[in-house]
Amino acid sequence: MPKEAESTVIPTLDAKAWEVYQRLLATYGERPLVPRRSPMHELISTMLSHRTTQKNEDTAFRQMWDRFGSWEAIRDAPVADLAEAIAPSNFPEAKAPRIQDTLARIIDERGEASIDFIAALDAAAGLRWLMALPGVGIKTASLVLLFCFSKPIMPVDTHLHRVSGRLGFIGPKTSAEAAHRDLLVLLPPEPPVLFNFHVAMLRHGQTLCIWGTPRCAKCPLTDICDYYQVVVKPK
Ligand code: SF4
Repeated sequence: MPKEAESTVIPTLDAKAWEVYQRLLATYGERPLVPRRSPMHELISTMLSHRTTQKNEDTAFRQMWDRFGSWEAIRDAPVADLAEAIAPSNFPEAKAPRIQDTLARIIDERGEASIDFIAALDAAAGLRWLMALPGVGIKTASLVLLFCFSKPIMPVDTHLHRVSGRLGFIGPKTSAEAAHRDLLVLLPPEPPVLFNFHVAMLRHGQTLCIWGTPRCAKCPLTDICDYYQVVVKPK
């Protein structure tokens, strides 16, 4: 997309969200909504992922599982040992007790280390249950619900938050927590659409609409991007 692209007038925010979705799919491709790992694995891995790269999250999880071998053993391990095992993840001392508290709550309440019962809940009930777990916020809960249970929900991480703000889907003062609600209403409530929007926006935030100076010259969204039209183009 040339830098001097004119602004394209799109009448509503949801029409714009659909246009962004189509263009990002054309750029990054479409993926099937198939769970990549078990719900328990997704939940604990996502807790490990906070402020941590994917590679280090994976290493931390693998080290933890290799060392303890079961959810019950992770729950019962000396907290310092668990923190040591998950050290490739940032803030291991804070994450270790939260992971143990979460596992204890799940096993106490459900009688087993499984959250598969969430499949029978609606999205709102699943969100409430997961967010009542120690150390589980809306991002982690939303990601588990969409990725593992195909619930119609929109996880918002730092990349989605930043890109959505630049595109004009959310206001400059909208928190990532509030963006979960504001982005969800812009798209059809179809889990494969929400999943692919999430994945494509994440990819866009990692590759072109990066922190600092975005790579707008290579972006397919310049004519419908508020940031480009207001901040970049006048230069
Ligand atoms: S035009 Fe620039 S600021 Fe806008 S979405 Fe693309 S990379 Fe981000």
